[in-house]
Amino acid sequence: MRCILCSCLSLKHICQKCQSALLKPTISKRELVKGFYVISFYKYKNIETLLKTKHTFIGSYVYEIVAKNSFSLFSKEFKQKAYVLPVDTKVKDYYSHTAILAKAMKGEYHTPLYNSLTAKNSVSYSAKSYQYRVENPRHFNYLGPEDVDIIIVDDIVTTGLTLKEAYEVVKQKANPLFALTLADARE
Ligand SMILES: [Zn+2]
Repeated sequence: MRCILCSCLSLKHICQKCQSALLKPTISKRELVKGFYVISFYKYKNIETLLKTKHTFIGSYVYEIVAKNSFSLFSKEFKQKAYVLPVDTKVKDYYSHTAILAKAMKGEYHTPLYNSLTAKNSVSYSAKSYQYRVENPRHFNYLGPEDVDIIIVDDIVTTGLTLKEAYEVVKQKANPLFALTLADARE
């Protein structure tokens, strides 16, 4: 096949050269609620092309490659036991992108919790205003283990409302440490 970024022949959808050159994380951090931070691996603009493959048939492969360059590396560095909780907003895709990110952290210290944070409201926030998002909360339900440390995972943080809502819900039963996202889309 050919690399989707440089078109050279490659065994993967993104060649090794492009992975090294373009997928080196540039970590940023912002506070969502007092004491609760989101750490993002990339600026949205820098990996926009890749994130947009999400709704195509190669999306899952691309997400796996990007996650290996970011979530997997982070997991190896962060040696503290925790459960990894992907935010599932139930947008009607045939697989969950956030589950791919959580899976990339699976290892000695980190255990993914699939289908454990489900949204009762699956309305799409894409291109919606801040006001609309505020008026249409996700109404999350946390189904995972209680009294454990949790890392909340999502692919993109924009206003932070989704992650804040997830944090408030998880906090009632467990201990959210921080959130991790692939990209920060704030300007
Ligand atoms: Zn390439």
